[in-house]
Amino acid sequence: MAVEDDSTIVPREGTEFESEEAAKMFYDDYSRSLGFVMRVMSCRRSERDGRVLARRFGCNKEGRCVSVRGKSGSVRKPRQSTREGCKAMVHVKYDRSGKWVVTKFVKEHNHPLVVEPRQARQTLDEKDKRIQELTIELRNKKRLCAAYKEQLDAFAKIVEEYSNRMSKRVESVVENLKEFEHIEQ
Ligand SMILES: [Zn+2]
Repeated sequence: MAVEDDSTIVPREGTEFESEEAAKMFYDDYSRSLGFVMRVMSCRRSERDGRVLARRFGCNKEGRCVSVRGKSGSVRKPRQSTREGCKAMVHVKYDRSGKWVVTKFVKEHNHPLVVEPRQARQTLDEKDKRIQELTIELRNKKRLCAAYKEQLDAFAKIVEEYSNRMSKRVESVVENLKEFEHIEQ
């Protein structure tokens, strides 16, 4: 891996990843910071157990669609395709060491990239900001919850005291009645 123009991390042949998922996440980040949309492409599977042995991640402007087959099998009218035959891609292969290694990397795109790296980073900053806002909101909600609980506890205490007082009053009334009965007799 190498840091190139404006600190975007660029894959290199030989770059290792812990898993296929890690390689995918890396290329996804890379595509975002560069301004293209990643496409998960073909993979090679083991004939023995169907495990994925190699995977290609590319640009969504790869390939040219001539016709699109519908689910029924009928050929639909060819649509205006967004694909421009872009060859940019990264090929990762499962290595005996257990890692996923970049075996091929094509950097060049044959079309303009949409997002400037700086804008991509700003989006990340915005995400960070949103997470921060949500964290604060959550903290406030927790505080509010605690305040409600306190009020509820205080109310419960009042109710308890009141019912205690009431039962004491009832007791004294009963006592009085008894005394009264006693006197009457
Ligand atoms: Zn491309």
